[in-house]
Amino acid sequence: MRCRFCSKTIHTTLIDLGNTAVSNAFLKDDHLNHAEVTYPLKVLVCDNCFLVQVDEFQKSEEIFTEEYVYFSSVSAGWLKHSKAYVEKVTERFKLNKNSLVTEIASNDGYLLQYFKEKNIPCLGIEPTYSTAQLSIAKGIENVIEFFGEDLATRLSKEGKQSDLILGNNVLAHVPGLNDFVRGLKILLKPSGVMTFEFPHLIKLIEKKEFDTIYHEHFSYFSFYFICKLFRFHGFEIFDVEQLETHGGSLRVFIKHKENENIKIENAVDALLNEELKFGVNKIEFYKGFQEKAIDIKNKFLLYIIGEKQKGKKIIGFGAAAKGNTFLNYCGLKSDTIECIVDDTPIKQGKYLPQSHIPVVSRDYFNTNKPDIIVILPWNFKAEIIEKLSFTKEWGAKLVTYIPELEVN
Ligand SMILES: [Zn+2]
Repeated sequence: MRCRFCSKTIHTTLIDLGNTAVSNAFLKDDHLNHAEVTYPLKVLVCDNCFLVQVDEFQKSEEIFTEEYVYFSSVSAGWLKHSKAYVEKVTERFKLNKNSLVTEIASNDGYLLQYFKEKNIPCLGIEPTYSTAQLSIAKGIENVIEFFGEDLATRLSKEGKQSDLILGNNVLAHVPGLNDFVRGLKILLKPSGVMTFEFPHLIKLIEKKEFDTIYHEHFSYFSFYFICKLFRFHGFEIFDVEQLETHGGSLRVFIKHKENENIKIENAVDALLNEELKFGVNKIEFYKGFQEKAIDIKNKFLLYIIGEKQKGKKIIGFGAAAKGNTFLNYCGLKSDTIECIVDDTPIKQGKYLPQSHIPVVSRDYFNTNKPDIIVILPWNFKAEIIEKLSFTKEWGAKLVTYIPELEVN
C-alpha cells in the first residue's frame, strides 16, 4: 500500500493480528446466523515518514454506522478528565461568551457540556447519528457529518471559524489525514489554538498495548510524526502534555505558524528529543513487536485454559473494542469466556463481533458468582477493580493481561 501521508510505498509490518471483524459492530440475535465480514488487521510502518498505519480496507462510512456503539459519557473517569481539561483551557486561553469552541468527534457531548455550563458557545461535529442526538438533547449545536476540507470551508463561510478546536481520540480514526488537517487550517481563527489527544505510539510499543489496534484506527502516532504532519500544513506545535489516559496519551497544543504571539514551550523539544533517542525515525524501532504480542497471548491462554480445566467459571468485564482485538487474536469464544458484563445498555443483549460472546448487564451477578473476571478495558482497571470489589465476597479473581498477566 501507499502511505496515507507521504504516498511512498510501504514495506514494513509492525504487527499482523489476522482477520478480524470491526470491533464495535455488536451483533443482535438475528445476525448470528449470517456470515460475518472480517478484514485483515495488519499494521504497517512507512519507512519514509514513519507513520504507523493500517491499510484502508473499509471506508469510514461503513465503520461508524448506527451499529457503532461508543458513548463517552459512560465512563466516570473520562468525564472527570474532560471537565478538568475544560477548566484548564478556559483559563489558559481566556475563553468567554464571545469565543467559539468546536470539538471534532464530539460524541454524546461528554465534554462540550462543560463549556456550555460556562456559557461559552460551542459546536459539536459528530458523524454518528445516535451519539449526536444525545449531544443535541443536552442543548449543544451539532453538525452530523465527517470533518474535512469541504465541511470546514462551509462552516467558515457561515462565520464559524473557531477560537479553540479540539479533538480527543479522533486523529487515529481519520482515513484522509491530509484533508482533515487542511480543514483545520481553514476552520481555525488566525489567533486560535487547537488541542488533540491521542494514544502515544511510543507507549503502545513500550507497554505492549497491541490490543489498542483495531479497524476503527487508521493511524498510530508518535510525537515525531505529529510534528511533521502539522508543520507540513502550516501549523506549529507549541506545547505537549503526557497523559495517563488510554494507556499513555499525548495532548498537543497547536497554533498557526504565522501566529507569533504564543511562545513555544520547552516540553516540545524535550519530548521530540526523547523520541529520537528511542529511535522513532529508524525502522529498527518498529521490529519485534509481533513477538511481544505472541508472548502475552500464550501466557494468558495457558492461564485461562488451565483454570477452565479446573472447572472455574470465567467471564469478562467491559465490552470494549480493545477486548475484541484481544479475544479474537486469542481465538476465544463463549465456551471459555461465558459472557461479558457491561454497563452500557445499548450493548447488553447483543454479542461481541466474531467471538459471539454475549454481553449482559450487571444483573448477572444477582444469580452468578464467577471465579475469574477478565478486565478487558485495562485502561480503566483501577475504576473497574473498585466497581467489582463486591465480587471479593466470594473470592473472585480479577485478571488483566497487558503489559503482563496480573491476577488480583
Ligand atoms: Zn509515509
